[in-house]
Amino acid sequence: MSDNRPQSADAGVNTRLAHMGNNPRDYHGFVNPPIVRASTVLFPDVATMEKRGQKYTYGTRGTPTTDALCDAFNELEGAAGTILVPSGLAAISIPFLAYLSAGDHALIVDSVYTPCRDFCNTMLKRLGVEIEYYDPEIGAGIEALIKPNTRLIHTEAPGSNTFEMQDIRVISDVAHRHDCVVTMDNTWATPLYFRPLDFGVDVSIHATTKYPSGHSDIVMGSVSANAKHWRRLEDTRVAMGICGSPDDSYQILRGLRTMGIRLEHHQKSALDIAQWLEGRDDVARVLHPALSSFPGHEIWKRDFKGSSGVFSFVLNADAENARARTHAFLDTLKYFGLGYSWGGFESLAVAVNLSDRTIRKAPSDGVVIRLQIGLEDVADLKSDLEAGFAAAALV
Ligand SMILES: *Cc1c(COP(=O)(O)O)cnc(C)c1O
Repeated sequence: MSDNRPQSADAGVNTRLAHMGNNPRDYHGFVNPPIVRASTVLFPDVATMEKRGQKYTYGTRGTPTTDALCDAFNELEGAAGTILVPSGLAAISIPFLAYLSAGDHALIVDSVYTPCRDFCNTMLKRLGVEIEYYDPEIGAGIEALIKPNTRLIHTEAPGSNTFEMQDIRVISDVAHRHDCVVTMDNTWATPLYFRPLDFGVDVSIHATTKYPSGHSDIVMGSVSANAKHWRRLEDTRVAMGICGSPDDSYQILRGLRTMGIRLEHHQKSALDIAQWLEGRDDVARVLHPALSSFPGHEIWKRDFKGSSGVFSFVLNADAENARARTHAFLDTLKYFGLGYSWGGFESLAVAVNLSDRTIRKAPSDGVVIRLQIGLEDVADLKSDLEAGFAAAALV
């Protein structure tokens, strides 16, 4: 590294998180970067302006604050470049628009984040892109689905809400033999627990809304690409007039400093609660890749460095009492909030709607409930859940 920052590429992850991104020496030694809010950037003379001969040229083209966050993501993901976008959903839709054209065929994992499916089924179909969903556990079998016009394979592991694992390296190898770009929604693992580009993925997507933010107060996304696919991604961002806000970038960079230690806590508490749930009679199954009982566990163990704080379980219920049991359980919880998103400091619980699935349909033995385990003390969270189960049992 040419600057005089203390980190080195082989330092531990928390050391790197503490020092990556901005260089304090660029701004008088202040530890954090300034929040540079900008539209206009002034040039010293016409000649400089004509050849765009300075680092910053306009607010949408980046500022020292957004660059600090992009640099941090490039380092975390091992990427050639990163773009910042206004939400995690935009971090999916922008690369799809970058790499897909009318007449192309795209393969999308069936356990995908639901609003991604909505984008595919509405806008991409309208633009003439053929969409096909595939089984998350298809592995090398994906080759049979590839057509001459297949251009993009979208992966997400573990899958949203039901946490199926995917063999990312195998899918990437097949995709590249057929000249397809591979995108991966890596929000669950964060680059600390999985580095998609090391497994052959071309474009790694994050809802930085989740763990990088960590405090339920920012919506933002990032997309990091390898050298082959970076230019097209950046050109698409510029063409569409999309950019990340400097204020939000500052907050995400702030969140990254503690993301390693927060994730360790989320991981430990979530696993403790997942194991405890597995032993209960009111729970049919626990859907958590780090449990040895989970079907995708071997892939998780082989490829991932850790597990985060979001998982689901199947609450025992039959068709008649499912709705009432779910309401009784969720309405009784007091530490677990009822709300969307995850990755913040506070615990959340939601009943998962899987009606959009075409291949991996909802289980028949109960209701899927997704938990986000926050930073609270595990004993309090368990007694909260215990009260929920007691209320559900009365139905
Ligand atoms: C939340 C989420 C998103 C979208 O993020 P927003 O910032 O809420 O738009 C995308 N992918 C996954 C896997 C998510 O969980």
